[in-house]
Amino acid sequence: MNLEIDDDVEWYFEERTLDRPDRGCWEWEGSFHGNYGIAYIQNKKVGAHRLSWMLHKGPIPKGLWVLHKCDNTSCIRPSHLFLGDNDDNMADMLLKGRGRYREHLGAETAEQIISFFIEGASISDLAEAFDCSVRAIRDVINRRTYRSRKILGYDPPI
Ligand SMILES: [Zn+2]
Repeated sequence: MNLEIDDDVEWYFEERTLDRPDRGCWEWEGSFHGNYGIAYIQNKKVGAHRLSWMLHKGPIPKGLWVLHKCDNTSCIRPSHLFLGDNDDNMADMLLKGRGRYREHLGAETAEQIISFFIEGASISDLAEAFDCSVRAIRDVINRRTYRSRKILGYDPPI
């Protein structure tokens, strides 16, 4: 889904962007769904990083994902984003998931699942990507098992 970019959209984006020179990232200051910024534009809900891509780089080709190079899910800096296909997306999710496990992957993974769901991933694709049951994905999406040990089949450290 692409948006029509006009002055209002640019203004909306700029009003909600915080430059963080200490991190090199631009942080989203608008609404959030989990760790991912969300923009409400033209009666549509769109990921803030996707909005950033559309504003600065142009339309997102169908079937491609906007992914983070910087591992900061609230980052919307265009140079920290890249387009990937579904395989890149799944690889990226899994890589980041593994990397974060020792800290607090339970919640992080749930956020990722929710974010990818919002962006159009099917429940069955998510179940496959995260190696868990369709039921577990549904539970995450319904926020029932936010810190569930079901998510990747292990106990969260908290
Ligand atoms: Zn960044």
